[in-house]
Amino acid sequence: MGLEHAFAVLGQQKLTELRDRICCVNDLLVTGDYSEDPDLDINLCARDIFKAGYFFIEDIFYDDTRHADSLKYSDEVIAWAAKSGTHYKSLPMEGTKFSDLSLRIGYPYVYMHQGNCEHLLVVSDIRMLHPHDSFNILDYPYLVKRPSKKRTICRICAFDSARWMTEGSFNSLEDPSFYCQVCFRSIHYDQNGKKIGNFKAYKYFDSHTVL
Ligand SMILES: [Zn+2]
Ligand SMILES: [Zn+2]
Repeated sequence: MGLEHAFAVLGQQKLTELRDRICCVNDLLVTGDYSEDPDLDINLCARDIFKAGYFFIEDIFYDDTRHADSLKYSDEVIAWAAKSGTHYKSLPMEGTKFSDLSLRIGYPYVYMHQGNCEHLLVVSDIRMLHPHDSFNILDYPYLVKRPSKKRTICRICAFDSARWMTEGSFNSLEDPSFYCQVCFRSIHYDQNGKKIGNFKAYKYFDSHTVL
């Protein structure tokens, strides 16, 4: 796995400010099969439903507890570790500034969200502001490097980004397969908008088409 994103954050910023800038496709997934009603406007994605997440830095869990109704993913790990005599603690992510942390350069830390989506978090540099840095606090966390992954292309036109993922689609060479909006509609529905065949369709987001 290559480097996904690199951000510059200010010491005075809260860990949640970084979390809110991390874009992961798993946050954008819309769960469920929408093949019967592809026009249904779905605004709820995984990030809106499963809001929990933590950073694990120097043996401390920093849980995002901004939403009272969301789980605290660290509870289970902390309870499990305690059985073997290892005691970890949890602090609120939204109550911790980067300047509060004691960090090791280049040491692997973890960002976990959506139950099982783990990202490696590495601090590559800690420094003072340089004259060429932005002095506008609103520019931070500043995206230093974008992901360099290739986007997922529609399997039919091989031009537009995929917006739909299908399972069991009758004329796909691969399964699951990926289609742009136009190609998806033209091969899976007749002129009256009726679904052809028995397949499942999921909204698909590629981080490249989102950022
Ligand atoms: Zn993720
Ligand atoms: Zn297409």
